[in-house]
Amino acid sequence: MHVLLVEDDEPVAESLRRGLKRYGFEVDWVTTGAAALAHPGPYDVVLLDLGLPDTDGLDVCKALRGRGDVPIIVISARSDETDRVVGLELGADDYVSKPFGVREVIARIRAVMRRVRPRTPADAGPDRYGTRLTVDRKAARVHLDGAEVALAPKEYDLLAFLTEEPGALMSREQIMEAVWDANWFGPTKTLDVHVAALRRKLAGAITIEAVRGVGFRLEVAGDTP
Ligand code: CA
Repeated sequence: MHVLLVEDDEPVAESLRRGLKRYGFEVDWVTTGAAALAHPGPYDVVLLDLGLPDTDGLDVCKALRGRGDVPIIVISARSDETDRVVGLELGADDYVSKPFGVREVIARIRAVMRRVRPRTPADAGPDRYGTRLTVDRKAARVHLDGAEVALAPKEYDLLAFLTEEPGALMSREQIMEAVWDANWFGPTKTLDVHVAALRRKLAGAITIEAVRGVGFRLEVAGDTP
C-alpha cells in the first residue's frame, strides 16, 4: 500500500516513514502543500499535516478531495476541535492528533481503507491469493487447489486477518486484538499454535514469516515482494 506523507516536521516524518515501512507500507514523503498537490501519484492514502510552511493543510485537504476519493487522514499538532470538524467537513476521512504512535496511525489507515473499499458485486466472490488459495469471506471458507481446507474458527479468523494485507507486518498485539479479544492481556502462545497450524495446512500457498520481537508477515507464494 502506497502512502503519501505530507509533513514538514522532519523528525516526525522520519519516524513515521520508518515505522510505516517496517509494517510493509511504501511511503512518499513531501514537506509542502504545493509538493503534495504536484505529486503525480498513484497513492492509496494521504497522511496530511495541517501546519505546513507554504499553505494551510485544510486547503490542501479540500483541493485533494476536489480531485477524487483518495482517503485522507489529517495529522495535526492542533488539538483544536474546530480543526477536526472543519477537516472532516472538507472531506478528510479521519484525524489523528500529535503526538501519536505509528501503530495508531496504521490502525487508522487500515480502518479507513476498509471503509472506502466497499465490496462491489464484481468482486463479491472469494478473494484469490496467488494461483492456489482462495478465501471466501462471506461463507468463511478456504480452498487450496480447489479443495476445501478444514480450519478451526480461530485459524480462519487469523488467516482472514493476515490476508487483508499480504506483505504487511502485523504486530502480535494487533493480531491478538483483532482475532481473539480487544482486551487480551494473556499469553500469546495460542497465536503461535494457530500460526503453525496455518503454515501446515496451507504449505506451499502462503508463508507466514515470524519477525522477532514484533509479529508476523504473511506472503503469498509466488508473489514478488
Ligand atoms: Ca507541521
